[in-house]
Amino acid sequence: MRIDKLLANMGYGTRKEVKALLKGGNVRVNGEPEKSAKTHIDPEKDSVTVMGEEVEYREFIYLMMNKPGDLISATEDANEMTVIDILQPEDYIFDPFPVGRLDKDTEGLLLITNDGQLNHRLTSPKKDVGKTYYAQIDGRVTEEDVEKFSKGVTLDDGYKTKPGQLKVLTSGEISEIELTITEGKFHQVKRMFEAVGKKVTYLKRVSMGELKLDPELELGEYRELTDEEVEYLK
Ligand code: URA
Repeated sequence: MRIDKLLANMGYGTRKEVKALLKGGNVRVNGEPEKSAKTHIDPEKDSVTVMGEEVEYREFIYLMMNKPGDLISATEDANEMTVIDILQPEDYIFDPFPVGRLDKDTEGLLLITNDGQLNHRLTSPKKDVGKTYYAQIDGRVTEEDVEKFSKGVTLDDGYKTKPGQLKVLTSGEISEIELTITEGKFHQVKRMFEAVGKKVTYLKRVSMGELKLDPELELGEYRELTDEEVEYLK
């Protein structure tokens, strides 16, 4: 990888700023001064320092956000604030994107990464990664609904979903449930409830595969995944 790209990726400025940094004699590779922006280095083997400080290179970033219900899960948008807009500059520079989509009004676990392979693994319909949602439903959710969800329900466009595991937490005028599904069709949870004549009034994703939303994260907060959590997803 070119040294200017590496330093820009690691937040040392734009490619132009990094070039000036190199020209100014501030960078050393394996202890030797390096002035050329074109020099190729191996991030695994070569030691790079900027003003005496070792550059710790890494390619990927993995963030867990507790998405609030007023941001859209996209990288950019002309009119609306996105989940990427609220990232700190040191995370933003990795060019991350959200893994899959949550509706604007859905809260909860959203993974944000620049690891395209992980994104594919988690969103591919073939991989069957379970996503669990907590929801409040207008109306009484019954054992009959549990049974119907376990066989898959037919959505408004005629698509029959894969089985969903529905757990009723409380049933009443407003019911609370947990639903685990392995697909990610547009508005899927809301449409599955519509298919049984009920309306979702609040929706929050609580887990993806083994990865659980950190209860310490307030809405709009995020943190890096631990190495162990990244392993869960692989
Ligand atoms: N299902 C929905 O209806 N909305 C979401 O945001 C996620 C799953």
